[in-house]
Amino acid sequence: MSARKLEFTGAYFDGLSAKKREVTIHLSPRQMKVSLHKGQALVWDYADLRRNSASIGDNPPFHLEHIEAGSKHSGLKSLTVNDAAFLSSLQQISGVPLHSSLKRATRSRQYALVLAVLVVPLFLYGLWKGVIPQLSDRVAMQVPVSWEEKLGQTVLEGLPTALAPTPAPAKEKALKAIIDRLLEADPNQPYDIRIYISPLEMVNAVALPGGHIIVFQGLLNLAESPEELAGVLAHEIQHVLLRHSTRGIIRALTSQILLSLMVGDMNGSMDLALSVAGEIDGLSHSRKMEREADRQGMEMILAAGIDPDAMVRLFEKLDAHEKLLTQGKKSKESGPDDDPSSWTEYLSTHPAGLDRVARLKKQVAKAEKKSYTPLLPDLNWGDTVHRKPRPNQNGI
Ligand SMILES: [Zn+2]
Repeated sequence: MSARKLEFTGAYFDGLSAKKREVTIHLSPRQMKVSLHKGQALVWDYADLRRNSASIGDNPPFHLEHIEAGSKHSGLKSLTVNDAAFLSSLQQISGVPLHSSLKRATRSRQYALVLAVLVVPLFLYGLWKGVIPQLSDRVAMQVPVSWEEKLGQTVLEGLPTALAPTPAPAKEKALKAIIDRLLEADPNQPYDIRIYISPLEMVNAVALPGGHIIVFQGLLNLAESPEELAGVLAHEIQHVLLRHSTRGIIRALTSQILLSLMVGDMNGSMDLALSVAGEIDGLSHSRKMEREADRQGMEMILAAGIDPDAMVRLFEKLDAHEKLLTQGKKSKESGPDDDPSSWTEYLSTHPAGLDRVARLKKQVAKAEKKSYTPLLPDLNWGDTVHRKPRPNQNGI
């Protein structure tokens, strides 16, 4: 039986050169001290040591490597001890088994996990905000119109709003006449623009990919002339032609696909959170898109020979409507079905404001003055379009 030996001699390599240095090694319960020369010493935690892969079994020489945090690219400091008692003394005093992998490896894995938890969301956020929109926009501009139409149809079928089962033919005809007049200004556009009337009393209109436009009764009631409604319809047609909704939806889809690839089932809650954010993003357009739709919409109104002041008037009314809503002074006249969830209100999906009205006015002022041809001059607009839906038509 041998007494535990606590001091050994060995060879030290600094990992940077092949130079071998004779050292004295002192073992203590917590650490190992490696004395170089001239009073220089290294103090190593046992947890940061591992046996070199060349060191196998219980026979000397024993090779130990010291792993330092952050020194991945520099060489490893190492010790070689040619003493049969070294390994057992070390294991006894440190309580560390000293296999080729030590605690340090476990710690590295823990650091990696912590880093992953912190870094992956940041990375996803960067992807979400930076890469995905750009990529999605590129994809959206390449997809065929027929694909957009199918996408729009799918969205239409999934919308939680009841469309009028049989809208009054005269009302439908009036809206179609406005659309036809607007499209005369852009005869080569590839979409089959279709109007759907929702009986819900919301001041809203929604453009879906591929040419589906939903107009809510609340918006029809706000428009006091065909020209006023034409302003909003021109804006919505531009969302279709400029593929704004397609871009939003592809962005949301891309995010979801990427997320499920990257996160998989490991982090369902994050997946869900981001996909919900994606849906909201998909339904509303950016301010830049809104401005674009305003500007191009007004161009369309002017090209179609429709009075542009009516479009300006309607956007002023929308602004006033928004102010009423935000002040909570909205009329209580409407029925229980007039309780729109926030996304269906025009102004939550279409940021209004006097600045957009000012921009439109400026655009009109710059436009070449010409005479405008009245829209549907023989139609009694109020009687045809403002008619309130029957209560049982209010849908869900
Ligand atoms: Zn819009």
